Amino acid sequence: MTKTNIKASNSNMSDKLYKLSDFIPEFSQFRTNEDKTRIGCPSIDNSLFVSTRKGEKYFKPVNVVCPECYSRDVVKNGTYSRKLIFLTIGEQNCIVQKYKCNKCGHVIYTDLSSIVNGNANITIPVIEHIEYLYSYFNGSLHKIRKSLKKEHNIEISHQSIENIILKSEYEIEHRNWTFSGYYLFDALWVKKNGKWKYILALFDLELNTIVAKELVDSETVENVYDFLNQSLRNQKKNCIITDLKSEYRVAIDKLQIKQQFCTFHTKQLINREIRDYIDKNNASEEEIEIIHDYKSLFFDIIDVDSINEAKKIRDKLFYINSNVPSVIRKLVSKLIIPEFKKLTNHLTDSKIAITSNKIENCFLKNFPKHIKKLFKTDKGILKRFNLKLKYWDEDNAIY
Ligand SMILES: [Zn+2]
Repeated sequence: MTKTNIKASNSNMSDKLYKLSDFIPEFSQFRTNEDKTRIGCPSIDNSLFVSTRKGEKYFKPVNVVCPECYSRDVVKNGTYSRKLIFLTIGEQNCIVQKYKCNKCGHVIYTDLSSIVNGNANITIPVIEHIEYLYSYFNGSLHKIRKSLKKEHNIEISHQSIENIILKSEYEIEHRNWTFSGYYLFDALWVKKNGKWKYILALFDLELNTIVAKELVDSETVENVYDFLNQSLRNQKKNCIITDLKSEYRVAIDKLQIKQQFCTFHTKQLINREIRDYIDKNNASEEEIEIIHDYKSLFFDIIDVDSINEAKKIRDKLFYINSNVPSVIRKLVSKLIIPEFKKLTNHLTDSKIAITSNKIENCFLKNFPKHIKKLFKTDKGILKRFNLKLKYWDEDNAIY
């Protein structure tokens, strides 16, 4: 037996596979999802009949009732045509039936709202598919356009695709959410018309998604404070994990919520300070060795298994010799001792994450670097963010 690839265009297939529901309006309710997909209208309502006549799609209601006087005494009153763009079968010329009520004279239009919004020509399933592709292709309009052409015989402009994405309505419904009390906080930088803007975001560790966000012009203590204060109203406030940005730290302190520094960022900061010192001061071998011994102690405080062990190490640092390199004395007096709790809170409660990785991954997945610069409006930024988050939620969120 030989295998051959049979290539048939979708539109040819759909013309050949007729079913009773394609001819008899009353059978519309027996259309399967497969039938609906075959005719390019997966969202079509049972009250709407569609058939194909001479290459044109013809729409009429299954039952006609006058919306003004509820009379069923109606007569056909001409048709009008519309060009609609369908999934699978692309652009089609459509004939839509009109009726007139014999009782009150009202002209009745066929209700197409299950397949298309208002006077748009792109049908709802196509819009939903574009939203899906947007998330799948990480925002490349070019790839979305190509995929629509290849898979669905649909040709629409970049601008139309962009408009659909901007119009998409997805708002996170979190008014009724009960947060876990364990959060990550961070900001995503986005560029709008060449200027930086910031999406402040709060990630719930148990719900595994962003539960609050706000677009602001700057990352000031006040903005961060207001955002967190507002977002956490009436919610549990066990701990917030952040990087070491001072605006975040001050704002969270002001809210009197327990804080944990991301251990990855902390180690990065320690390494950076030490490297800068060694480079600038041309440190001797001996000095470098002392510095590294202390660095191991700092890292041990973060990495040990119990708070008591961490405290023991910290206590060794209280009386530090004045001939110890200044970078070490600075780290001890500015970070390790005053912020000891923020470095070790995770040792007292296992629900406290030790890094802010999860929110960074969520940002990265939703807003990769290459799409951060495309934005022209605040609305555009948030619409896209919400849309990406929708698919993140479907795969990841627990609620
Ligand atoms: Zn009427």
